[in-house]
Amino acid sequence: MDREMKQEFNQQIVSFGKSCDQQTGLLHQLEFQDRLAALLRALSPNQEVALIWIDLVNLRREFSLWGWSGVEALVRGLAATLRSVVSPDALVGRVGDETFVVAMQASRNNQNSRKSIQSLVDALVPSRRIGTENSPEIAAGVAFFPLDAETPDDLARFASLAATRARYLKSKTVVGFEAEMNRLIMRDHLMEVEMRNGLDQGQFSLFYQAKVNLKTGQLLGAEALARWTHPEWGAVPPNEFIPVAERSDLIHRIFDFGLRTALTQVRRWREMGLHLPVIAVNASAANVREEDFAQSVKNILEEIPVGSTQVELEMTESLAFEDEELFAGRMRQLKALGVRIAIDDFGTRYTGFDLLKRLPVDTMKIDKCFIRGIERSPEMQSLCRTIIAMGDQLRMRTVAEGIETVGELDVLRGLSCEAGQGYLFGRPVAAEAFAGFADVPAAMRPELGFLAPQQLIKPEPVYRIA
Ligand code: C2E
Ligand code: MG
Ligand code: MG
Repeated sequence: MDREMKQEFNQQIVSFGKSCDQQTGLLHQLEFQDRLAALLRALSPNQEVALIWIDLVNLRREFSLWGWSGVEALVRGLAATLRSVVSPDALVGRVGDETFVVAMQASRNNQNSRKSIQSLVDALVPSRRIGTENSPEIAAGVAFFPLDAETPDDLARFASLAATRARYLKSKTVVGFEAEMNRLIMRDHLMEVEMRNGLDQGQFSLFYQAKVNLKTGQLLGAEALARWTHPEWGAVPPNEFIPVAERSDLIHRIFDFGLRTALTQVRRWREMGLHLPVIAVNASAANVREEDFAQSVKNILEEIPVGSTQVELEMTESLAFEDEELFAGRMRQLKALGVRIAIDDFGTRYTGFDLLKRLPVDTMKIDKCFIRGIERSPEMQSLCRTIIAMGDQLRMRTVAEGIETVGELDVLRGLSCEAGQGYLFGRPVAAEAFAGFADVPAAMRPELGFLAPQQLIKPEPVYRIA
């Protein structure tokens, strides 16, 4: 090769490297962005552009199975297929290890456009690596310029939001962008920012709801429930902010806040002569999944000592369902600290008896959806009977959640359910109200067959050594 040719060759290589993904020869992100912007600028008023976002789901698993070479062959194959099915003037890029993008002229309200977009994605699905039966799952979304988005950035962002929805739905068809998708993600983001401020500025507090013995009405404990009062939005329900917190690191701060505040409160009540047998704090799957979860519980218990057997952590079944071994291991670590463990919302995920038998669980909380109107539903009665029998056999305490009516209470008593929680006995209230028993005992009326409220909370006996 003479010098000139070599230089020319090198220049070509460099310019290819600058604009194209080495592995697939598709445009890389910056080049795709530039060309997309130019394409949109050059568009005449009646033309539209579709941006199709194609995520290769589970490429990681392909890697675990076949290694780099396998993944490379697969991605190259998919890229070649993609290029062969789009028209020559379409832009095809690779904007991340797992993402292909295509920009082409197509209109949102045209059936044929939709069909050709779908067939383009369908062409990728049967692509298989030679010698294996594997092809990655594909999740694809599409957004249109200018109807959905008015800038190239938004167009890509919106197509990616649609692909995220496709991934969530495990949809085989290309999902079209909807304005709601953008609204939700922006709302989540805003809520996350405000939650971070709110935690710093003391906008969070705990409410406490009584758990009672269904036979005697005796107070068995309280569940601590997080409350967030935003200065402008007002009271944000936990069902709104907990899922947002779970998608970020905020869930760890919320757990930390919840456990610390609850333990401090228990000590304060104790000083006032109110002895609470058990305080329960909710822990999300995201908390339990953390490697050092048990250690952080231990640290807080050492910092704010209350008897560890007085502390119960409520966790939903979902984690047990996702990763049994991790869940069981974490529970054993927690049990070693002496804390009690409750399975919250039991029945919604159908944890089997065999799994439950292997877990060191102290309490099962029957989800409120099985309690609502139980007196009119033989099916729910029989389901609760089974859960209660299972709890008895495994020596667990069974708590029925969400008891609102005397009718529901009567049925649960008939089924020998040990404990209950619900508006009938008292709504979650602030610490002062709980201590004053202003709200909580109001429902513990003698006509429910309980003892009079004053007898329910006995001061802890004080011993004086003469
Ligand atoms: P959960 O742990 O199952 O808590 C019980 C929920 O049922 C509470 O809702 C409570 O106010 C409500 N409830 C109690 N009795 C009744 C009743 O008789 N009828 C009806 N309809 N509802 C009743 P809340 O406080 O809105 O909390 C909702 C969920 O948010 C909780 O469900 C829990 O999963 C989560 N959550 C609340 N605080 C925390 C927290 O500090 N950390 C975590 N990770 N999750 C929390
Ligand atoms: Mg709970
Ligand atoms: Mg629950």
